[in-house]
Amino acid sequence: MSNVVEERLRSLTRLQVIDSKLDKIHRLRGSLPEEVSDLEDDLEGLETRKSRIEEEIQRLNDEIRDRNTKIEDFRTQIARYEDQQMNVKNNREYEALRKEIEYANLEILTSEKKIRQFKEQIEQKNVLLEQTSHHVEDKKNELEEKRKELEIIIEDTKSEEKVLKSISENAASKVEDRYLIGYQKVRHNMRNGLAVVTTDRSACGGCFSIIPPQVHIDLHRRERLIHCENCGRILVDDYFFEEINTELEKAGV
Ligand SMILES: [Zn+2]
Repeated sequence: MSNVVEERLRSLTRLQVIDSKLDKIHRLRGSLPEEVSDLEDDLEGLETRKSRIEEEIQRLNDEIRDRNTKIEDFRTQIARYEDQQMNVKNNREYEALRKEIEYANLEILTSEKKIRQFKEQIEQKNVLLEQTSHHVEDKKNELEEKRKELEIIIEDTKSEEKVLKSISENAASKVEDRYLIGYQKVRHNMRNGLAVVTTDRSACGGCFSIIPPQVHIDLHRRERLIHCENCGRILVDDYFFEEINTELEKAGV
């Protein structure tokens, strides 16, 4: 009788240890794909911002080019007006040309002022562009690292997961259905996924409520299935955990 119970306790502990390892693998994978996709979104946003700044700089350069063309045109006009001034017939014609020259000079001044403003804006945009480019690079590196991390974890854990799953199935097959169902029910109710625990300094390793001395003695006897009265977890002697961890170490998982 005692051997049957002991074997059951052993299988339940094995199941717990393996399931905890599987949980850990899933947790690792669970957050990484999300982190990778968040980083991809961030990168896309930054790259859009970068190309928008580049477009603005391009637009400002186009404006400067247009203004410079205008200035050239006005200078040509002024030269022509000045030539014409040499050959005027009367004062009124001279005055009309003078006004045209004055207007053209004002236009040149306005364009020169605009060009200075555009250049200032370009300078500011260049600072922003440099900062954004740095952010893009940082984000790219971060993403690259996370992607590698994820690939490595998937690659590393693929075979481990397979081994763990087969051990878990094997352990589950040795536990009678009603105990297995009980184990799974408790496990799913617990946020940390622990249904089988040992004691930790006279307390339940799951909820830390104090375990009476008599229960400790019963745990060492390994003759019956004991539940924590507070949280309902299965309490087992630490012996089982040590045994299974050694067993798994030997199996290389
Ligand atoms: Zn408890």
